[in-house]
Order: sequence, then structure tokens, then C-alpha cells
Amino acid sequence: MIIDAHAHLGIDLVFEEVRTEAEMMAMMDANKVDASILQGMFGHIYLDEIQDNHNRIANLAKQNPKRIFGMITMTPYLHEADFYNEAKRCVKELGFVAMKLHPMAFACSPLNVRAEMMWKICDELGIPIMVHTGAGVPLSLPSSVITRCKQFPHVPCVLAHSGMVIYADETFLALRECPNVYMETSWTMPQHIIHAVKTFGAERVLFAADEITNVATEIGKYNSLPISDSDREQCLWRTANTVFRLGF
Ligand SMILES: [Zn+2]
Repeated sequence: MIIDAHAHLGIDLVFEEVRTEAEMMAMMDANKVDASILQGMFGHIYLDEIQDNHNRIANLAKQNPKRIFGMITMTPYLHEADFYNEAKRCVKELGFVAMKLHPMAFACSPLNVRAEMMWKICDELGIPIMVHTGAGVPLSLPSSVITRCKQFPHVPCVLAHSGMVIYADETFLALRECPNVYMETSWTMPQHIIHAVKTFGAERVLFAADEITNVATEIGKYNSLPISDSDREQCLWRTANTVFRLGF
């Protein structure tokens, strides 16, 4: 079984990309991905657009139960009440399983007070937070989650891209400091995944691809790693299943 914990749907205004429902489902079928956690795209600053993006993910999830799950994606600089109400709607009405913080795309460090608001809401709604790391330093330094992860010990925090190779050591530091930190391995070097599995255990490591065109590559990477089959299975789906409470 394979769970892709980081995939996107919609129109991205920051990175100028477009991902459609048909492309998403075709990619999953072609690569035997059983389930994907879909987040929105970046640069949308109006609440109605953000709601449309969330509804679009929810519709695809409804058409593909247990194959598509949703992740809240919205700028933390909305009016706080709007942010809170939309997050609650996503979890309670649409069944979303997590929230995304993209420090670069949102121009919001994990140490920012609006990021603290995101963690607080995740804590209340009982969902994990995924934080982009790597490109976009200093906002995207993996170590900047440590303060929040200690402040909110019950909120699992998934470091997307594990610091994107160059900040892998910072990711390991966060894993060492906080038991509620997990590393998502899209764009990560094989040796860093091996190191993490050996040092922290496969229960802290999870597979993701981030881009449709990167899925086959990321699966190939895992299949070529010199780790045990049970560790491979843990990384490919079991960790995501536990962290995001997907119920498989
Ligand atoms: Zn992404």
C-alpha cells in the first residue's frame, strides 16, 4: 500500500502551476498510489476563493472515498475569525485531516504569532500541521518549528521535504528535540532517509511526492533503499495512516 501525504490540486498563483482532478487520479492509478492527501495551491488571499479551493478538494474526496483526503490550505493573514471558521468547516463538515503552513508562500515563519494561531486551531480541532521546509529560508528553516512543537505537544508536525537536502541536519535536530515531529521525504536524498530510519525509526518518516511528475521517482527511491521491508512499508503508508488518522 502507498499513501502520498503531500499532493496539490488547483491553480497556484505563487509558483504558477496547475493541477487538475483528472491528472491527479491518473497519476494515482498509474503508480498504484492507494490514497493521497491533497492540499490547495498558494497565493489565494480572498476567502471565497479559498473556500472554492477547499470545496474542490472535498468534492474529489467525496467521489473517491478513502482515496482522497483534504488538507486545509489558506493564508494565516485572513481575519482571524474567517480563518478559524473556515478551518472548522473543513474539518467538521468536509472531513479534512490536516492543515498546511507554507512559511515562504504565506510569508509566515512558524514563530510568527499568526502561525501560533494555526497551531492553536490544529490543537483544538485535533489535526496535525504540515510545515514546508527548505526553499524560502530563513522563514522555512526546519528548526523554527521546535518552539511551537514544544508549546503544542499534542499536535503532530510533519516537516515537508525534510529541509530539502541542505537543511536535513536541522530536520534531524527537530526530530531529536520533539517527539511530535515527523519527516516527509519528497525531494530528500536517499542517505538522509536511511539515516532517519536508523536513528529515529521508520515511525517518524513518511513518503510523499509533492508533484505528480515526481511520484514514480519517489516510489523508486524507496524501493531502492537498503532498509527492511517492514520499515519500507512503515514509511510508504503506515506512518501517514497514524499521523493523519486515516483509518486504514
Ligand atoms: Zn507542495
